[in-house]
Amino acid sequence: MKDKLQDYDVIEIHEDKPTRQSRPSSCHRHPDQGQKLLIGATIAVAIIALALSFLDIQKDDSKAPAPNVIIPTTMLQPVAMPMANQVTPPSETDKTHLLYMREEEKLARDVYQQLFQHWKLTLFSSIARAEQRHMNAVGQLITRFSLPDPVGTNGIGVFQHQKLATLYSDLMARGKRSITEALRVGALIEEIDILDLEAGLKTTNQPDIQRVFRNIQRGSTNHLRTFAHGLELRGEIYQPIKLTKDSFNAILHSPTDTGFFANGQ
Ligand code: MN
Ligand code: MN
Repeated sequence: MKDKLQDYDVIEIHEDKPTRQSRPSSCHRHPDQGQKLLIGATIAVAIIALALSFLDIQKDDSKAPAPNVIIPTTMLQPVAMPMANQVTPPSETDKTHLLYMREEEKLARDVYQQLFQHWKLTLFSSIARAEQRHMNAVGQLITRFSLPDPVGTNGIGVFQHQKLATLYSDLMARGKRSITEALRVGALIEEIDILDLEAGLKTTNQPDIQRVFRNIQRGSTNHLRTFAHGLELRGEIYQPIKLTKDSFNAILHSPTDTGFFANGQ
């Protein structure tokens, strides 16, 4: 008997793991089996804790549950993402600028569409199309921030801001006088646009607003060059009205910026 045990012990020592694992399952007190059970139990507790914390989150998101179990954030994301929606609310200043810029881009589009109808000069129709894209880009931000769209179904020349309604009437009256006056009107709109976008850019911390305003502003500098060039072809050097001579000259002598909205214009 003792010999047999000794033999067994020898076998035990020299055998590989597979042989040991093939022993009957009734042998629960074996150290390996115990470890497995412990791991299994730990996993089960973790899964239950996870399930409970998910239920808690779904029940009330205003409460910040502090479960004792540390849950990896990667596991929480699929539940947390749709609720968070990833929108940082814009500041009051951002809102004012967004709503105003939406209508200011509309003013540019409306004036250029009408001046194209009047003079049949193709640069007005192509720039009007760019202004439509600018309007849409600001419109998308307005939708994302759930702001009331000031444009809605408003027709040509209709604006919520009285300042823009008056400006539209004045610029249209001027633009119909002559082609050169129409080009001056275009250049003035772009000067105003560049400065208003600059004001919006200075006061915002929102990357999405910064991106859209910079793209639109790039379009405006291209348009300003186009109008100034159109005047130059007709023997006139455009004198800036709103921009400083230095910033105007810097814009005039910089190469055409082919940003997202610029479209080669
Ligand atoms: Mn524009
Ligand atoms: Mn423009």
